Amino acid sequence: MSKIQILFCASEVSPYAKTGGLADVAGALPEALRKLGCDVRIFMPLYRSAREKLKALKPLAEDSPIPIGIHDYHVHILRTLTPAGIPLYLLEKDEFFDRSHLYGTPAHGDYEDNAERFIAFSRAVHTLCVRLHWYPSIFHLHDWQTALVAAYHRLNWRYDPNFIHSGTVFTIHNLAYQGVFPADYFSLTQLPPDVFSFRGMEFWGQCNFLKAGLVYSDMLTTVSPRYSQEIQASEFGCGMDGLLRDRHNSLVGILNGIDCEEWNTEADPYLPARYSMDDLEGKRACKEVLLSDLGFPEGSRRKPLLGMISRMAAQKGFDLMGEILDNLMDLPVSLVILGTGDAAIEKSLKEMESSFPDRLRILTAFDEALAHRIEAGADIFLMPSRYEPCGLNQMYSLRYGTVPVVHATGGLEDSVVDAVQNPDTGTGFKFADYEPFAFLGSIQAALDLYRNRDKWREIQRRGMGQDFSWTRSAGQYLNIYKNVLARKPKRPSPIPPA
Ligand code: ADP
Repeated sequence: MSKIQILFCASEVSPYAKTGGLADVAGALPEALRKLGCDVRIFMPLYRSAREKLKALKPLAEDSPIPIGIHDYHVHILRTLTPAGIPLYLLEKDEFFDRSHLYGTPAHGDYEDNAERFIAFSRAVHTLCVRLHWYPSIFHLHDWQTALVAAYHRLNWRYDPNFIHSGTVFTIHNLAYQGVFPADYFSLTQLPPDVFSFRGMEFWGQCNFLKAGLVYSDMLTTVSPRYSQEIQASEFGCGMDGLLRDRHNSLVGILNGIDCEEWNTEADPYLPARYSMDDLEGKRACKEVLLSDLGFPEGSRRKPLLGMISRMAAQKGFDLMGEILDNLMDLPVSLVILGTGDAAIEKSLKEMESSFPDRLRILTAFDEALAHRIEAGADIFLMPSRYEPCGLNQMYSLRYGTVPVVHATGGLEDSVVDAVQNPDTGTGFKFADYEPFAFLGSIQAALDLYRNRDKWREIQRRGMGQDFSWTRSAGQYLNIYKNVLARKPKRPSPIPPA
């Protein structure tokens, strides 16, 4: 049988451009799928950060016109290979992508031309395939930035015999980000007029890119089974719950994997010492170096170190954190929070930091090396997200022997087993009600167990032994691709040589 050909269309791909978990998925899943025998390739915008990291880029298409509304924009497409040998194609349009950030700046918010930027990217997918003479079986689309590909494919491209065999899979990494623009932006898409209706991408009189993905893709996936359920109810449905209930037969939740090579305590180049499930000694060294780098006093070594790494966004539970911080600082612990994002959250945390100079560090940076050192050096990891489509840090924590305390939602619910309710199988601590004292209670339960060294080692080792590899998730995606393709016209078999 010929290989399934998959084009990943993603607005961020680790390590070239990243704001969150989507980049980790788009960076790691292609390789896992290739190991399962697929022909996978990746298409992303050539942002400034990607250009800085990718030196050997070769031209593939030059000066190709992309229509946006009544204008043609001229773009280039470049090509390279990832270190794992996956073909990576990049849309070069400096006017759109050579910027300091991916979607907007902390000071001024979203870029005003985000609609144009991602219409261009979505339409360039067609240019790419035609230029390559490569017509993938599956377009795997991610989040609102690439959702229009599903509409272009369903309403336009599939009438071309080259595309009739292909299907679309749309993955929702976070339903809250929808790409909503004023109604008059619709004309920029050049989609048929009836697409701007409640059956298409119109949403309360506006143009909603994500909705195009939900309506026109063959299959929908989310990044954890629990989140796929939660988004079908109004609380987390972000206005799309009715549509998602309607499409529930085409909606599947697959828990993300993690990059087990990047997150490997036995070979992590960022760590001052290495360790393993059988020998946790190095973890203690990681904690000591981290405490001293953070400038915490000598006595902190004996106290548990709590860590948190997160985008500073309301979703991530900073309201709970703010409410419990005084009480938490009454306990014998130290806390380090690494994150960037919402300026108001950053400011209020920074203010609290000055009240607890020996116990609290707020580091407002995006720093991968530090993220690794915190995952290794902390004893307990906090993830009180209000909702969490999947979440990666709780899985990194488990792998690093850093016991997670999480709100029981989405992927946090699916990946952490509560040790209070399941003493023999528990890997962390979960609280069900999104309430400050429920969160504090769970931290307290973790601290109680921390005092019992043997039991603590047990729970650490259990977490470190979990399988969060991409191989497991990739197999589930492969089944979805096969289901989609089973419903498509078959590609004619090549004529055997005479
Ligand atoms: P989300 O995608 O909602 O931001 P995830 O937990 O799925 O949350 O993924 C977040 C990813 O971004 C993780 O790989 C995490 O380590 C990383 N990350 C978030 N903030 C920072 C930061 N300030 N510095 C380094 N890495 C960060």
